[in-house]
Amino acid sequence: MKISVIIPTYNEELVITESYNRLSKVLADNKYSDYELLFINDGSVDRTIDILKEIAGRDKCVKILDFSRNFGHQAAVTAGLNQCQGDIAIIIDADLQDPPEVIPQMIEVFRQNQCNVVYGVRKARKGESIFKKLTAKIFYRTLNYLSEINFPLDTGDFRLVDRKIIDVFKSMHEKNKYIRGLISWVGFKQCPVYYERDARFAGETKYSFSKMLRFASIGLFYFSIKPLKLATSIGFLSLAAGFLLALWLILFRGSSVVNHWGSRTVYWKSFR
Ligand code: UDP
Ligand code: MG
Repeated sequence: MKISVIIPTYNEELVITESYNRLSKVLADNKYSDYELLFINDGSVDRTIDILKEIAGRDKCVKILDFSRNFGHQAAVTAGLNQCQGDIAIIIDADLQDPPEVIPQMIEVFRQNQCNVVYGVRKARKGESIFKKLTAKIFYRTLNYLSEINFPLDTGDFRLVDRKIIDVFKSMHEKNKYIRGLISWVGFKQCPVYYERDARFAGETKYSFSKMLRFASIGLFYFSIKPLKLATSIGFLSLAAGFLLALWLILFRGSSVVNHWGSRTVYWKSFR
């Protein structure tokens, strides 16, 4: 069984060597010999790509997809899923918040339960601001409330998917993907693995507030029609309110409208 590890990477010069070391150690320690570490360099402007090239030069299991600019985390994971060769793939962040040591556990659950997806559920999130934890909690619960699908709570993209799921995913051509949602949505057999999310190994988060908002809105608008229904209802309510106001003005307030609103209203005042 060939294993692909998909690692989206943006300006991670401080962590990338350590990620590579930990990932290859975990895989070697567990006697997985047939694997590829697929790093997607998402338009980094630091030394990430130089370090990756140096690592790939000495380890044939390391492969690189090098983006022409920063397209975002979800685009990087999508490219990884499209290009990976494995019978199974594991999506993992480069910053070691998702501990590589959980991977063998995921593979074990995959084997024992014969499931198609093993998703990581965060029992704890170390080293993250109260703001991030709170907004994440509110967002995932709101998404579940608004959408018809029940997404597992407190999960990110850290998950194992088998070839069936990869092929279904590849057939979806949405431009902006909310990957964790799409993978839940496709169904088949999905099992959880619980883990503690660590603090970032080094450096700062690469998810700015605006990137986070964009990501959240893609999730909401793709998986719930309630925002659309709300916009339609507001539209109709405004139309009805406008119509009633116009009626009221015509029937009861003709003269004062002329006084206050000027020449435009004179026409229908005289008409009346
Ligand atoms: N990342 C990426 N492109 C981006 C932003 C982030 O490939 O535009 C990568 C980043 O290098 C990391 C993963 O996506 O491996 C998650 O990002 P980060 O750790 O900064 O997000 P956080 O964990 O703070 O939500
Ligand atoms: Mg992180």
